[in-house]
Amino acid sequence: DPVLRLDGLAKGYLQGTPGAVEVLRGVDLALTAGETVALVAPSGAGKSTLLHIAGLLDTPDVGRVEIAGQDMAGRSDRARTAVRRRDVGFIYQFHHLLPEFSAAENVILPQLANGAGRRAAAARAADLLARVGLSARADHRPAELSGGEQQRVAFCRAMANGPKLLLADEPTGNLDPETSDRVFEVLMALVAETGLAALIATHNMELASRMDRVVRLEAGLVRPA
Ligand code: ADP
Ligand code: ADP
Repeated sequence: DPVLRLDGLAKGYLQGTPGAVEVLRGVDLALTAGETVALVAPSGAGKSTLLHIAGLLDTPDVGRVEIAGQDMAGRSDRARTAVRRRDVGFIYQFHHLLPEFSAAENVILPQLANGAGRRAAAARAADLLARVGLSARADHRPAELSGGEQQRVAFCRAMANGPKLLLADEPTGNLDPETSDRVFEVLMALVAETGLAALIATHNMELASRMDRVVRLEAGLVRPA
């Protein structure tokens, strides 16, 4: 089974009003385990809409979303949330770490929400932070970390529950080129190590070219770039 399978997704907003927009018009996309796919999209093409549907934060008007062999059609919100917490990790352009919590706590909290015990969650957070070279920063709050360090903590948070699918929206978009490159290397190492599938939206064609495949979202469809 693919880790992520999108079949014939259509999605529009404000249907039946003068402001109606059809954003997705039949998107097909599948990612297998260990595969890294760059998603390139002009602004307004529907990148966020697509990532939200793939991450079970939104539902398509038409079409099917399958995550790790689980068809999400007709599932309750509760069931969708459970799959999202367990199987999907998100990384954003701006890390969205919780400012009042330490780096370690930011990686521990999603595990507690997923039902992990405190001790196991803390051990996993320490391990993840060590892998990205942040052991010495575990007790620091986000404001005490550099942009690149914050983004590495955000990776650890996304990986906290051992997701099968990683969805990233411009994960290096706000970093300088050198930091962006380092953070990207960390991301690719985590992907290689864990065998998860990653769909990474980026405008950076150099980074995109280092992934297994590049696809383009345009005119409501996903096509090979
Ligand atoms: P991108 O992330 O590629 O910039 P989005 O998925 O955010 O694109 O949006 C795609 C299009 O859908 C845009 O024209 C946007 O204005 C419109 N849109 C997105 N969300 C909504 C919404 N909740 N209501 C109305 N229009 C929306
Ligand atoms: P929590 O476990 O804290 O209750 P959720 O289960 O609601 O969080 O969300 C799981 C993941 O989805 C988190 O990474 C969260 O940041 C992300 N998320 C939740 N709502 C949205 C949203 N509207 N847009 C983008 N990401 C979201």
